[in-house]
Amino acid sequence: MTSRADSMLADLERAGFKLTPQRIAIVRELADDLTHPTAQSLFDRLRPAFPTMSFATVYNTLAALTECSLVQGLNLGGSVRLDPNTEPHHHAVCDACGVIHDIPLERVERVDCAPPSADSTSFLGFRVLREQRTYRGLCAQCIASPVS
Ligand SMILES: [Zn+2]
Ligand SMILES: [Zn+2]
Repeated sequence: MTSRADSMLADLERAGFKLTPQRIAIVRELADDLTHPTAQSLFDRLRPAFPTMSFATVYNTLAALTECSLVQGLNLGGSVRLDPNTEPHHHAVCDACGVIHDIPLERVERVDCAPPSADSTSFLGFRVLREQRTYRGLCAQCIASPVS
């Protein structure tokens, strides 16, 4: 069984990108990170191990990953967050601490009452290719111990 990082690296190489040690480190750092980090936070985390790495390297590697559809950029207001989970899913964002949780589609479909209709995939001639919702609220941790 190959890890997510390994398959991302293989796909990146297949797309013609050279796998430099820095690129490999960036992919490994991001592959299993479900916190939807920003490019800046990845850069900060990798910097101690790669003092000569430039932010442009991180940025360009992330752009390559996005181009290959291995990572999606999420714009939830503020800086773009990176999401290595490329399965269709929704997000729940905590207004207090900013944590972003992935919500698998099946979990949402169950609470939805609207029946899927034939034309629910088209509005004013617009063809919907995917749907991504953002739920805002408070995460379990912030409900349990509110930051005041
Ligand atoms: Zn929270
Ligand atoms: Zn996500």
